[in-house]
Amino acid sequence: MSDQTRRDFLRSLGFLSLSGLGYAIVAAHDALRRVGSLAAPARPAGPDAKGAVDSTAAGKGQGPFEPAYLELHRSGELKRRGEALWKILEHCELCPRRCGVNRMEGKLGFCRASSQLEVSSYNLHFGEERPLVGKGGSGTIFLTNCGLRCVFCINWEISHEGRGTERSIDELASMMLRLQGMGAHNINVVTPTHYSPHIVLALDKAAAGGLRLPLVYNTCGWERVEILEMLDGIVDIYLPDFKYADGEMASIYSSGAADYPGATKKALLEMHRQVGVAKTPADGIMRRGLMIRHLVMPNNVGGSCEVIGWIAKNLPKDTYCNIMSQYRPMYRASEYPDIARRITGEEYAAAVRCAKDAGLTNLDIQGWRF
Ligand code: SF4
Repeated sequence: MSDQTRRDFLRSLGFLSLSGLGYAIVAAHDALRRVGSLAAPARPAGPDAKGAVDSTAAGKGQGPFEPAYLELHRSGELKRRGEALWKILEHCELCPRRCGVNRMEGKLGFCRASSQLEVSSYNLHFGEERPLVGKGGSGTIFLTNCGLRCVFCINWEISHEGRGTERSIDELASMMLRLQGMGAHNINVVTPTHYSPHIVLALDKAAAGGLRLPLVYNTCGWERVEILEMLDGIVDIYLPDFKYADGEMASIYSSGAADYPGATKKALLEMHRQVGVAKTPADGIMRRGLMIRHLVMPNNVGGSCEVIGWIAKNLPKDTYCNIMSQYRPMYRASEYPDIARRITGEEYAAAVRCAKDAGLTNLDIQGWRF
């Protein structure tokens, strides 16, 4: 690791810990604000569930920008898309697991989700990529459960253990508007795939209530193109991981998802087709485009150079690519010797070198743009 890279790495660790502190303060502040406003029991799930949307939260953060979904909302297509996605719950194939369970009958898929929406938390988040955070923060909504289920998941209480609260679609719409009112620069739905019908239907209601923020689809990257096509014109910013180059690694560490590399490559191409390259505007706030994350893992488990090489070969060279160093052996990672430690500086520097040698020009290296 060069001195410059090491300095950047250490500086970023300082930044991350400060971000974490800021996040904790905002989370506590918001938790206090929420008492009495969203603490009511969740209403039954359903695309036609009735309830008031908190339109008074709308207003702050509005500007000339118009999110992609607004046009579809005006034409009625956004609601139709949400209803079409909702229909898939009867034989769920929303993600590449394609369980085929009837979630409408209360059955749980591999992701452990029924048709009932569950949300872990929502807050202004200051630990995301800088063009998503700006000064106001990213309006992050953490959705409960997950279809990929990685053994090293940092959010394992939410994704594996289902920590969250049942919420209605109206409440999800209210959360979006509340985040806009708090000054968020975007609505950032984390692990959205298994709740994509709920998100689109909530977005339609929030748009009616004045939502004007870009939608960030913050996903593990393991998506079906057929489902992504239904999101065309709805998502403004795709924020996918590209975790593994090797299906065997994906199978070992992500619950048998051996098709991860192939499915994710197809998904990235479709995401790029829809939203194009993410280029940070002069004001520093991202509003559209594909932002790829690659987490460098110990012992090259992720196949970093192969992942990065594929991006450089198959997408424009200025594709936004965040090379992340923050791997920690969380959840059950200590049971797997190859991933039971943090990465070394040399492992991170090697991934960065690969990206530069491959000619990528829009790199986010621990918060520092290159
Ligand atoms: S979203 Fe859940 S239920 Fe649907 S296919 Fe994926 S894992 Fe199965």
